[in-house]
Amino acid sequence: MSPEQKKTLIEEVAKVVIQHTDELTELDQAIGDGDHGLNMKRGSEAVLAGLDAQLEKPLAEVLKYVGTTLVMKVGGASGPLYGTLFLTLGKELAEQPDLASFSQTLSLAIEAVQKRGKSEPGQKTMLDVLAPVLEELKRDEDGVIDRIRNRAFSASEATIPMRATRGRASFLGDRSIGHMDPGARSCALMIGKTCDVLGG
Ligand code: ADP
Ligand code: MG
Repeated sequence: MSPEQKKTLIEEVAKVVIQHTDELTELDQAIGDGDHGLNMKRGSEAVLAGLDAQLEKPLAEVLKYVGTTLVMKVGGASGPLYGTLFLTLGKELAEQPDLASFSQTLSLAIEAVQKRGKSEPGQKTMLDVLAPVLEELKRDEDGVIDRIRNRAFSASEATIPMRATRGRASFLGDRSIGHMDPGARSCALMIGKTCDVLGG
């Protein structure tokens, strides 16, 4: 990837999160403490602020920079979890990644998130977007970008009827049902934008 391509990718992903701050706030107000929008905005702005200095480095190093920045700036439960995701993506990314090697990289990153969060898919978290996206990635190459984008958004919608058993929303028990998980939504936004940039 050229420095320009890295810049576009990271910038667009950060910008889509910032543009959805209010929506993420509202989702987290419904089943959490309302900070997910501002947490993610703060982290994304910090990523943007230091991005230019990273662009000559390999993509793997840029991903580690994103991870480190999110750990430091996002806070909450999602900061260390998104931090772990991006740090592991950076650590495991192949020099010339293809679909198969990237599936393996994402699989390791998701495992690291699960370990860190003591969580698994099915608990109404960001993992309920990440795991289905990995499944889609593993299927085959045909239309993979469109399929992943669709799967990410449909998986985030599918958290609405779920009952949370991890994270702050789990304190609500049955009252967590009927709302989209904020972390699932932010995750779908980032994956959807990644698909837009890589596909277009
Ligand atoms: P906090 O819950 O500390 O206020 P945020 O509001 O920033 O942090 O992030 C909440 C999101 O983090 C949730 O919507 C969920 O997707 C994700 N999350 C919380 N706990 C976990 C966990 N143990 N494993 C995976 N994801 C989690
Ligand atoms: Mg919160």
